[in-house]
Amino acid sequence: MKTIMAVGAHTGDAQLTSGLLLARHAQEGDRIVTLDLTAGERGTPAGFTQESFRQYNIECAGQFAQMLGGKSIVLDIPDGELTYSQELAIRISDIMREYEVSTVLYHWKNSMHKDHIAASQLTTDAIFFASLGTFERPLPPAPIRRFLYAENWEDSEGFVPYAYFDVTQAFPLWKEAVRKLWLTEHSRDFRYLQYYEGLARMRGALIKKEYGTAFGIDEYAKRVVMET
Ligand SMILES: [Zn+2]
Repeated sequence: MKTIMAVGAHTGDAQLTSGLLLARHAQEGDRIVTLDLTAGERGTPAGFTQESFRQYNIECAGQFAQMLGGKSIVLDIPDGELTYSQELAIRISDIMREYEVSTVLYHWKNSMHKDHIAASQLTTDAIFFASLGTFERPLPPAPIRRFLYAENWEDSEGFVPYAYFDVTQAFPLWKEAVRKLWLTEHSRDFRYLQYYEGLARMRGALIKKEYGTAFGIDEYAKRVVMET
């Protein structure tokens, strides 16, 4: 059994941008882990306090993961205060080791949001620390074979989709699961569901499927060997 981990800066990031591929893996019997580095509580809507919104978002992330038969982890870092530190990268890498993660889906390096930029850098280093056999930690290294950058409307600068996946079968499960999130049903700042549903439709058209999802990879990884 493979473990697929999606890492997001705020609750909702991983579920909206990587959720279709997570749902497909869940249907194929793989283990799913969502890791939200903050609970996104600073976008506190009317009727909530920051603390009650934090708890609400943690519950929503839990419901999303549960619908995919997976696990949700939300760290205790305050929303808006995510910054890079090697200590935090190692903490994330230990979670990757604990769940024996084989694929990591996460933020592209550029973003309009500082927390997303920090999340990208933290995850990149966590993958390094989690994979390195000579980096001694209590648990053995995680068997990470693949890491991909998710398509996030806030992280669009320089993002180029490269790896496409057919998620036609997974789409209904994802849509039902993602509607558990506050952002999807109530946000007035951005039409999350309209955007990500439309994106899945458009990415699907490009691969001649009903629904698709696409991820970026590093420039250095774009290499093909041709026979002649
Ligand atoms: Zn975010």
